Amino acid sequence: MQIDPAFTLKTLQEVVGIDSRNPGLEEGGPGEWELAHHITGVLRGFGWQADVQDLGKPRANVVARWPGTGGGKSLMINVHLDTVGTEGMPDPYGAKIRDGKVHGRGTQDTKGGVAAAIAVAKLIADAQVQLKGDLVLAFVADEEHESIGTERLIEQVKTDAAIVLEPSDLDVVIAHRGFGAFQIETKGQAAHGGRSDIGIDANLHMGHVLMALHELQQEWRQRKKHPLLDSATLHVPLLSGGRQLFVYADHCTLNLECRTVPGQTMESILAELEAILERFRNKVPDFQATVEAVQWRAPYSIDPEADLVQTVLKAATEVRNEPAKTIAHPWWEDSAILGAAGIESVIIGPTGGGMHTDGEWVDGESVVRLAKILFASVLAYCGRADEGTR
Ligand SMILES: [Zn+2]
Repeated sequence: MQIDPAFTLKTLQEVVGIDSRNPGLEEGGPGEWELAHHITGVLRGFGWQADVQDLGKPRANVVARWPGTGGGKSLMINVHLDTVGTEGMPDPYGAKIRDGKVHGRGTQDTKGGVAAAIAVAKLIADAQVQLKGDLVLAFVADEEHESIGTERLIEQVKTDAAIVLEPSDLDVVIAHRGFGAFQIETKGQAAHGGRSDIGIDANLHMGHVLMALHELQQEWRQRKKHPLLDSATLHVPLLSGGRQLFVYADHCTLNLECRTVPGQTMESILAELEAILERFRNKVPDFQATVEAVQWRAPYSIDPEADLVQTVLKAATEVRNEPAKTIAHPWWEDSAILGAAGIESVIIGPTGGGMHTDGEWVDGESVVRLAKILFASVLAYCGRADEGTR
Protein backbone atom coordinates (compact mmCIF):
# COMPACT_ATOMS: atom_id res chain seq x y z
CA MET A 1 0.00 0.00 0.00
CA GLN A 2 1.84 3.06 -1.26
CA ILE A 3 0.99 6.57 -2.38
CA ASP A 4 1.45 6.78 -6.15
CA PRO A 5 3.89 9.66 -6.87
CA ALA A 6 3.04 9.92 -10.59
CA PHE A 7 -0.70 10.06 -9.87
CA THR A 8 -0.13 12.67 -7.15
CA LEU A 9 1.84 14.99 -9.47
CA LYS A 10 -0.58 14.51 -12.37
CA THR A 11 -3.43 15.41 -9.98
CA LEU A 12 -1.54 18.50 -8.82
CA GLN A 13 -1.17 19.64 -12.44
CA GLU A 14 -4.88 19.01 -13.05
CA VAL A 15 -6.10 21.01 -10.06
CA VAL A 16 -3.66 23.89 -10.69
CA GLY A 17 -5.02 23.91 -14.27
CA ILE A 18 -8.53 24.76 -13.03
CA ASP A 19 -8.65 28.48 -12.20
CA SER A 20 -10.20 29.00 -8.73
CA ARG A 21 -9.28 32.58 -7.94
CA ASN A 22 -11.31 33.92 -5.05
CA PRO A 23 -13.94 36.38 -6.41
CA GLY A 24 -13.96 38.15 -3.04
CA LEU A 25 -10.36 39.19 -3.73
CA GLU A 26 -10.25 39.27 -7.53
CA GLU A 27 -12.90 40.81 -9.71
CA GLY A 28 -13.89 38.13 -12.24
CA GLY A 29 -12.36 35.34 -10.15
CA PRO A 30 -14.32 32.18 -11.02
CA GLY A 31 -14.46 30.84 -7.45
CA GLU A 32 -14.34 27.19 -6.45
CA TRP A 33 -17.35 25.92 -8.43
CA GLU A 34 -15.63 24.17 -11.35
CA LEU A 35 -12.82 22.74 -9.23
CA ALA A 36 -15.28 21.48 -6.61
CA HIS A 37 -17.33 19.64 -9.25
CA HIS A 38 -14.17 18.19 -10.80
CA ILE A 39 -12.94 16.83 -7.46
CA THR A 40 -16.36 15.44 -6.57
CA GLY A 41 -16.38 13.48 -9.84
CA VAL A 42 -12.88 12.14 -9.23
CA LEU A 43 -13.68 11.00 -5.68
CA ARG A 44 -16.96 9.37 -6.70
CA GLY A 45 -15.02 7.54 -9.39
CA PHE A 46 -12.86 6.03 -6.64
CA GLY A 47 -15.97 4.91 -4.73
CA TRP A 48 -16.11 7.68 -2.12
CA GLN A 49 -19.28 9.39 -0.93
CA ALA A 50 -18.73 12.94 -2.16
CA ASP A 51 -20.97 15.97 -2.53
CA VAL A 52 -20.63 19.58 -3.57
CA GLN A 53 -21.84 21.90 -0.82
CA ASP A 54 -23.38 24.83 -2.71
CA LEU A 55 -22.49 28.12 -1.00
CA GLY A 56 -24.19 30.20 -3.71
CA LYS A 57 -22.67 29.88 -7.16
CA PRO A 58 -19.73 30.20 -7.84
CA ARG A 59 -18.74 29.42 -4.23
CA ALA A 60 -18.58 25.76 -3.23
CA ASN A 61 -17.11 23.23 -0.81
CA VAL A 62 -16.67 19.50 -1.36
CA VAL A 63 -17.45 17.14 1.51
CA ALA A 64 -16.35 13.52 1.02
CA ARG A 65 -16.66 10.62 3.45
CA TRP A 66 -15.11 7.25 4.00
CA PRO A 67 -17.31 5.84 6.79
CA GLY A 68 -15.66 3.91 9.59
CA THR A 69 -16.87 0.63 11.03
CA GLY A 70 -17.28 2.24 14.46
CA GLY A 71 -15.32 2.43 17.66
CA GLY A 72 -12.62 4.79 16.37
CA LYS A 73 -12.00 8.53 16.36
CA SER A 74 -13.13 10.58 13.38
CA LEU A 75 -10.76 12.80 11.45
CA MET A 76 -11.17 15.57 8.89
CA ILE A 77 -8.59 16.63 6.33
CA ASN A 78 -9.39 20.28 5.53
CA VAL A 79 -7.84 22.06 2.55
CA HIS A 80 -8.91 25.21 0.74
CA LEU A 81 -9.67 25.37 -2.98
CA ASP A 82 -9.45 29.12 -3.58
CA THR A 83 -6.35 31.04 -4.60
CA VAL A 84 -5.28 34.66 -4.69
CA GLY A 85 -4.87 36.52 -8.04
CA THR A 86 -2.35 35.87 -10.79
CA GLU A 87 -1.02 39.33 -11.63
CA GLY A 88 2.45 39.23 -13.17
CA MET A 89 2.43 35.45 -13.70
CA PRO A 90 3.24 34.42 -17.28
CA ASP A 91 1.77 30.92 -16.89
CA PRO A 92 -0.29 30.68 -13.68
CA TYR A 93 -2.22 27.51 -14.62
CA GLY A 94 0.43 25.59 -16.57
CA ALA A 95 1.90 23.74 -13.56
CA LYS A 96 5.14 23.14 -15.47
CA ILE A 97 7.68 20.99 -13.64
CA ARG A 98 11.32 22.15 -13.68
CA ASP A 99 13.97 20.57 -11.44
CA GLY A 100 11.31 18.98 -9.27
CA LYS A 101 9.53 22.29 -8.72
CA VAL A 102 5.93 22.68 -9.88
CA HIS A 103 5.24 26.31 -10.87
CA GLY A 104 1.94 28.19 -10.86
CA ARG A 105 -0.75 29.87 -8.78
CA GLY A 106 -1.88 27.78 -5.87
CA THR A 107 0.84 25.13 -6.24
CA GLN A 108 2.06 25.76 -2.68
CA ASP A 109 -1.04 27.53 -1.30
CA THR A 110 -2.64 25.11 -1.35
CA LYS A 111 -3.32 22.86 -4.30
CA GLY A 112 -0.33 20.77 -3.32
CA GLY A 113 -2.48 19.91 -0.30
CA VAL A 114 -5.52 19.28 -2.52
CA ALA A 115 -3.52 16.83 -4.65
CA ALA A 116 -2.14 15.06 -1.56
CA ALA A 117 -5.65 14.63 -0.14
CA ILE A 118 -6.91 13.18 -3.44
CA ALA A 119 -3.92 10.78 -3.57
CA VAL A 120 -4.83 9.57 -0.06
CA ALA A 121 -8.45 9.08 -1.13
CA LYS A 122 -7.33 6.97 -4.09
CA LEU A 123 -5.05 4.77 -2.01
CA ILE A 124 -7.72 4.18 0.64
CA ALA A 125 -10.23 3.21 -2.03
CA ASP A 126 -7.82 1.07 -4.08
CA ALA A 127 -6.73 -0.87 -1.00
CA GLN A 128 -10.29 -0.91 0.39
CA VAL A 129 -8.93 0.23 3.76
CA GLN A 130 -11.41 -0.25 6.59
CA LEU A 131 -11.10 2.40 9.25
CA LYS A 132 -12.74 2.36 12.68
CA GLY A 133 -13.43 6.10 12.76
CA ASP A 134 -14.90 8.13 9.91
CA LEU A 135 -12.58 10.00 7.58
CA VAL A 136 -13.89 13.24 6.07
CA LEU A 137 -12.17 15.15 3.28
CA ALA A 138 -13.29 18.78 3.23
CA PHE A 139 -12.20 20.90 0.25
CA VAL A 140 -13.32 24.36 1.27
CA ALA A 141 -13.99 27.76 -0.27
CA ASP A 142 -12.76 31.22 0.59
CA GLU A 143 -9.92 30.62 3.06
CA GLU A 144 -8.02 33.49 1.45
CA HIS A 145 -10.77 36.00 2.21
CA GLU A 146 -13.60 35.47 4.72
CA SER A 147 -13.53 31.71 5.31
CA ILE A 148 -17.18 31.19 4.36
CA GLY A 149 -16.21 27.63 3.36
CA THR A 150 -15.09 26.35 6.75
CA GLU A 151 -17.74 28.46 8.54
CA ARG A 152 -20.49 26.71 6.55
CA LEU A 153 -18.78 23.32 6.75
CA ILE A 154 -18.88 23.14 10.54
CA GLU A 155 -22.64 23.70 10.53
CA GLN A 156 -22.93 20.22 8.99
CA VAL A 157 -19.74 18.31 9.71
CA LYS A 158 -18.32 17.39 13.10
CA THR A 159 -15.24 15.26 13.67
CA ASP A 160 -12.99 14.67 16.68
CA ALA A 161 -10.03 16.35 15.02
CA ALA A 162 -8.79 17.92 11.80
CA ILE A 163 -5.59 18.23 9.83
CA VAL A 164 -5.58 21.54 7.95
CA LEU A 165 -3.32 21.63 4.91
CA GLU A 166 -1.29 24.82 4.50
CA PRO A 167 2.40 25.25 3.60
CA SER A 168 4.66 24.29 6.54
CA ASP A 169 7.74 22.56 5.08
CA LEU A 170 6.21 19.32 6.44
CA ASP A 171 6.59 20.53 10.04
CA VAL A 172 3.57 20.41 12.34
CA VAL A 173 1.96 23.76 13.16
CA ILE A 174 0.38 23.72 16.63
CA ALA A 175 -0.35 27.43 17.17
CA HIS A 176 -1.01 30.59 15.23
CA ARG A 177 -1.77 34.19 16.06
CA GLY A 178 -5.16 35.80 15.55
CA PHE A 179 -6.03 39.35 14.62
CA GLY A 180 -8.60 41.93 15.55
CA ALA A 181 -9.57 45.46 14.57
CA PHE A 182 -11.13 47.92 17.02
CA GLN A 183 -12.42 51.47 16.64
CA ILE A 184 -12.20 54.15 19.29
CA GLU A 185 -13.99 57.46 18.91
CA THR A 186 -13.62 60.56 21.08
CA LYS A 187 -16.34 63.19 21.02
CA GLY A 188 -15.74 66.92 21.41
CA GLN A 189 -17.74 70.09 20.88
CA ALA A 190 -17.33 72.11 17.68
CA ALA A 191 -16.80 75.83 18.30
CA HIS A 192 -15.04 78.88 16.89
CA GLY A 193 -11.31 78.71 17.63
CA GLY A 194 -11.65 81.66 20.00
CA ARG A 195 -14.41 80.07 22.10
CA SER A 196 -12.41 77.98 24.53
CA ASP A 197 -15.27 78.47 26.96
CA ILE A 198 -17.49 76.08 24.96
CA GLY A 199 -15.15 74.23 22.55
CA ILE A 200 -14.01 70.68 23.46
CA ASP A 201 -11.06 69.28 21.51
CA ALA A 202 -11.67 65.63 20.54
CA ASN A 203 -8.20 65.41 18.94
CA LEU A 204 -6.35 66.36 22.12
CA HIS A 205 -8.52 63.92 24.05
CA MET A 206 -7.48 61.20 21.61
CA GLY A 207 -3.89 62.10 22.46
CA HIS A 208 -4.45 60.66 25.95
CA VAL A 209 -5.75 57.47 24.38
CA LEU A 210 -2.77 57.23 22.01
CA MET A 211 -0.28 57.47 24.87
CA ALA A 212 -2.18 54.80 26.79
CA LEU A 213 -2.21 52.51 23.73
CA HIS A 214 1.53 52.97 23.44
CA GLU A 215 1.87 51.77 27.04
CA LEU A 216 -0.53 48.87 26.42
CA GLN A 217 1.54 47.81 23.42
CA GLN A 218 4.69 47.71 25.55
CA GLU A 219 2.87 45.83 28.29
CA TRP A 220 1.73 43.19 25.74
CA ARG A 221 5.32 42.69 24.70
CA GLN A 222 6.11 41.67 28.27
CA ARG A 223 3.19 39.27 28.78
CA LYS A 224 0.83 36.98 26.79
CA LYS A 225 3.75 34.82 25.75
CA HIS A 226 3.31 31.50 23.94
CA PRO A 227 6.49 29.43 23.71
CA LEU A 228 6.36 29.27 19.88
CA LEU A 229 4.81 32.66 19.09
CA ASP A 230 5.93 36.28 19.24
CA SER A 231 4.09 38.34 21.83
CA ALA A 232 0.85 40.06 20.92
CA THR A 233 1.24 43.38 19.13
CA LEU A 234 -0.94 46.37 18.36
CA HIS A 235 -0.61 49.38 16.11
CA VAL A 236 -2.78 52.27 14.89
CA PRO A 237 -3.10 52.17 11.09
CA LEU A 238 -5.81 54.88 10.87
CA LEU A 239 -6.42 58.13 12.71
CA SER A 240 -8.61 61.05 11.71
CA GLY A 241 -10.28 63.92 13.50
CA GLY A 242 -11.62 67.42 13.21
CA ARG A 243 -13.44 69.30 10.46
CA GLN A 244 -11.45 72.38 9.51
CA LEU A 245 -8.84 74.86 10.62
CA PHE A 246 -9.97 77.36 13.31
CA VAL A 247 -12.73 75.05 14.58
CA TYR A 248 -12.59 72.89 17.71
CA ALA A 249 -12.52 69.22 16.65
CA ASP A 250 -15.89 67.63 17.46
CA HIS A 251 -14.75 64.07 16.81
CA CYS A 252 -11.67 61.93 16.38
CA THR A 253 -11.66 58.32 15.19
CA LEU A 254 -8.88 55.81 15.64
CA ASN A 255 -8.63 52.28 14.23
CA LEU A 256 -6.25 49.86 15.82
CA GLU A 257 -5.15 46.43 14.73
CA CYS A 258 -4.05 43.69 17.13
CA ARG A 259 -2.13 40.51 16.36
CA THR A 260 -3.11 38.24 19.20
CA VAL A 261 -1.82 35.14 20.97
CA PRO A 262 -3.71 32.26 22.63
CA GLY A 263 -5.37 33.42 25.84
CA GLN A 264 -6.55 36.73 24.40
CA THR A 265 -10.22 37.08 23.49
CA MET A 266 -12.20 39.84 21.85
CA GLU A 267 -13.88 40.43 25.21
CA SER A 268 -10.59 40.63 27.11
CA ILE A 269 -9.18 43.21 24.69
CA LEU A 270 -12.40 45.24 24.70
CA ALA A 271 -12.21 45.27 28.50
CA GLU A 272 -8.60 46.53 28.40
CA LEU A 273 -9.55 49.31 25.98
CA GLU A 274 -12.66 50.21 27.95
CA ALA A 275 -10.55 50.45 31.13
CA ILE A 276 -8.28 53.00 29.41
CA LEU A 277 -11.28 55.13 28.42
CA GLU A 278 -12.77 54.86 31.91
CA ARG A 279 -9.50 56.09 33.41
CA PHE A 280 -9.68 59.30 31.34
CA ARG A 281 -13.41 59.78 31.95
CA ASN A 282 -12.48 60.03 35.63
CA LYS A 283 -9.44 62.22 35.10
CA VAL A 284 -9.94 64.50 32.08
CA PRO A 285 -12.76 67.09 32.13
CA ASP A 286 -15.38 66.60 29.37
CA PHE A 287 -13.70 63.39 28.14
CA GLN A 288 -16.19 61.34 26.10
CA ALA A 289 -15.20 58.21 24.19
CA THR A 290 -16.49 54.86 22.94
CA VAL A 291 -14.84 51.67 21.73
CA GLU A 292 -16.16 48.86 19.53
CA ALA A 293 -14.84 45.72 17.89
CA VAL A 294 -14.77 45.89 14.07
CA GLN A 295 -13.34 42.48 13.21
CA TRP A 296 -12.13 39.45 15.15
CA ARG A 297 -10.30 36.23 14.22
CA ALA A 298 -9.25 34.19 17.20
CA PRO A 299 -5.72 32.91 17.85
CA TYR A 300 -5.32 29.13 18.05
CA SER A 301 -3.22 26.58 19.88
CA ILE A 302 -3.36 22.88 20.66
CA ASP A 303 -1.62 21.01 23.49
CA PRO A 304 1.68 19.65 22.07
CA GLU A 305 0.98 16.38 23.90
CA ALA A 306 -2.43 15.91 22.22
CA ASP A 307 -2.93 12.59 20.45
CA LEU A 308 -3.43 14.37 17.11
CA VAL A 309 -0.15 16.30 17.40
CA GLN A 310 1.83 13.24 18.37
CA THR A 311 0.24 11.14 15.60
CA VAL A 312 1.08 13.61 12.82
CA LEU A 313 4.53 14.33 14.26
CA LYS A 314 5.38 10.63 14.29
CA ALA A 315 4.12 10.14 10.73
CA ALA A 316 6.07 13.19 9.50
CA THR A 317 9.25 12.03 11.22
CA GLU A 318 8.96 8.56 9.68
CA VAL A 319 8.25 9.78 6.16
CA ARG A 320 10.97 12.45 6.27
CA ASN A 321 13.44 10.12 7.97
CA GLU A 322 14.45 13.00 10.25
CA PRO A 323 12.75 14.58 13.27
CA ALA A 324 9.80 16.78 12.30
CA LYS A 325 9.32 19.86 14.49
CA THR A 326 6.31 21.49 16.08
CA ILE A 327 6.16 25.11 14.94
CA ALA A 328 3.83 28.13 14.99
CA HIS A 329 2.61 30.42 12.21
CA PRO A 330 2.44 34.19 12.74
CA TRP A 331 -0.63 34.49 10.45
CA TRP A 332 -4.23 33.37 10.87
CA GLU A 333 -5.61 30.09 9.48
CA ASP A 334 -8.94 28.20 9.32
CA SER A 335 -7.84 25.99 12.23
CA ALA A 336 -9.12 28.66 14.65
CA ILE A 337 -12.67 28.22 13.30
CA LEU A 338 -12.41 24.45 13.70
CA GLY A 339 -10.92 24.79 17.19
CA ALA A 340 -13.74 27.10 18.29
CA ALA A 341 -16.21 24.44 17.05
CA GLY A 342 -14.56 21.84 19.27
CA ILE A 343 -12.54 20.20 16.49
CA GLU A 344 -8.90 20.28 17.57
CA SER A 345 -6.52 20.69 14.68
CA VAL A 346 -2.95 20.87 13.46
CA ILE A 347 -1.63 22.32 10.22
CA ILE A 348 0.84 20.69 7.85
CA GLY A 349 1.74 21.24 4.21
CA PRO A 350 4.44 21.02 1.58
CA THR A 351 7.63 22.92 0.90
CA GLY A 352 7.67 25.69 -1.67
CA GLY A 353 8.05 29.40 -2.14
CA GLY A 354 6.55 32.58 -3.56
CA MET A 355 3.20 32.20 -1.85
CA HIS A 356 0.87 35.08 -2.91
CA THR A 357 3.57 36.38 -5.32
CA ASP A 358 4.15 35.90 -9.07
CA GLY A 359 6.82 33.27 -8.42
CA GLU A 360 4.80 30.61 -6.58
CA TRP A 361 6.07 27.01 -6.71
CA VAL A 362 5.91 23.80 -4.72
CA ASP A 363 8.41 21.01 -4.35
CA GLY A 364 6.73 18.01 -6.04
CA GLU A 365 8.45 15.47 -3.81
CA SER A 366 7.18 17.24 -0.68
CA VAL A 367 3.60 16.93 -1.99
CA VAL A 368 4.09 13.16 -2.34
CA ARG A 369 5.57 13.06 1.16
CA LEU A 370 2.63 15.06 2.48
CA ALA A 371 0.28 12.42 1.06
CA LYS A 372 2.31 9.67 2.77
CA ILE A 373 2.21 11.55 6.09
CA LEU A 374 -1.55 12.04 5.80
CA PHE A 375 -2.15 8.39 4.97
CA ALA A 376 -0.08 7.19 7.95
CA SER A 377 -1.81 9.73 10.23
CA VAL A 378 -5.27 8.59 9.10
CA LEU A 379 -4.49 4.93 9.80
CA ALA A 380 -3.06 5.73 13.23
CA TYR A 381 -5.70 8.24 14.31
CA CYS A 382 -8.89 6.60 12.98
CA GLY A 383 -7.61 3.06 13.63
CA ARG A 384 -7.59 0.08 11.27
CA ALA A 385 -10.65 -2.18 11.43
CA ASP A 386 -8.97 -4.70 9.08
CA GLU A 387 -5.72 -4.83 11.05
CA GLY A 388 -4.05 -8.19 10.67
CA THR A 389 -6.53 -9.43 8.10
CA ARG A 390 -4.24 -8.77 5.13
ZN1 LIG B 1 -3.58 28.96 2.14
